Amino acid sequence: MNTTEVMDMFDKYVVANYKRLPRAIVKGEGNYLYDAEGNKILDMFPGWAVSGIGHCHPMVVEAIRKQAGELLHIDNTFYIPQQGQLAKMLSQRAFGGKCFFCNSGAEANEAALKLARRFTPREKYKFITAEGSFHGRTFATVTATAQPKYHEGFLPMLPGFEYVPFNDVDALQAAFTDEVAGVMIEPIQGEGGINMATEEYMQTIRHLCDANGAVMILDEVQTGLGRTGKWFGYQHYDVQPDVITMAKALGGGVAIGAMMTTEHMAACLVPGTHASTFGGNPLACAAGIAVLEAIKADDLLANAAAMGKYAVERLTALKDKYPVITQIRGTGLMIGIQLNAPGAGIVDNCLEKGLRINCTQGNVLRFMPSMTVTPEQIDEAMTILDSALAQEG
Ligand SMILES: *Cc1c(COP(=O)(O)O)cnc(C)c1O
Repeated sequence: MNTTEVMDMFDKYVVANYKRLPRAIVKGEGNYLYDAEGNKILDMFPGWAVSGIGHCHPMVVEAIRKQAGELLHIDNTFYIPQQGQLAKMLSQRAFGGKCFFCNSGAEANEAALKLARRFTPREKYKFITAEGSFHGRTFATVTATAQPKYHEGFLPMLPGFEYVPFNDVDALQAAFTDEVAGVMIEPIQGEGGINMATEEYMQTIRHLCDANGAVMILDEVQTGLGRTGKWFGYQHYDVQPDVITMAKALGGGVAIGAMMTTEHMAACLVPGTHASTFGGNPLACAAGIAVLEAIKADDLLANAAAMGKYAVERLTALKDKYPVITQIRGTGLMIGIQLNAPGAGIVDNCLEKGLRINCTQGNVLRFMPSMTVTPEQIDEAMTILDSALAQEG
């Protein structure tokens, strides 16, 4: 099937709830995609951060093949060795907590919100989240997502959520009452346009949660698993959260999400309180283990930090050349290019020239290559972006 034939099928049979780029993708290898016509595309936004170590990483492919021949799924009525092993590996890379496994970022955040309600006394029920956040599309997580455009047509939202401006310490303090069960924020807002939490903001959340018996939840669905140059985004700060959630890059392309919390808080999720049928099955966990092993084997945390620095250097040179770029910001390979004009045309132009990037919030280009990206691939991306900016900027 060619791209046109695939698009015709979608017209007839697939709900049109996504704005799709006009390409049918049939193959991915490392940092490149191939469409149905055989065109090669340099992917600097792989799977919206899902393919964090590139497409079809050989170690992940091998682990999945092996696991598929042994056991694809077994329910959580039994013990699952791969689930235990992945939980141990994640625990050792974070704050020594315990994991609950699910299948997506939204589900991981749902688990975190339910945990916070259940852990805290009954009179505590409120959640504070930040404007510009993105936490998912289920009813609780889209309510947590403090962007009115995502609520349109779905009112009333779930009760109990309050929104504060991101990085505003005073607003947070003012919103903090006895009724607050938890605060949920992203260490670096992704969909919100690559906005980094300040050290002071993180410290204030920690302090207010401690003082009021509330739960500090960090949504690490995009920042987790190495993209920022550390295993988790919170590790750039001098704080320890009570809960982190992750998903996207965890399975290297296989659907898996996880919520990690302290042993103390984890104890409130006794049998019957929360569950997921597919959560933590052998296939997904084998993929997760392989992702963590691949990051270590190829020293990809260091590569993410180094390539992030290099990309920012190259992008800063483009900023000096094109006044449409007003700021470059980011940590590691989570990089935003702030424009003073809409970015959609630049994204389309780049794709035509064989480069995939993303635009969020209308005027922030997201440059988020996989942790396996090379300087040569960044150079290749910059050449294309440069020529797109020359035409569109
Ligand atoms: C993508 C994302 C989510 C939602 O994850 P899904 O797997 O789409 O449910 C939640 N939080 C953040 C920060 C994300 O980037």
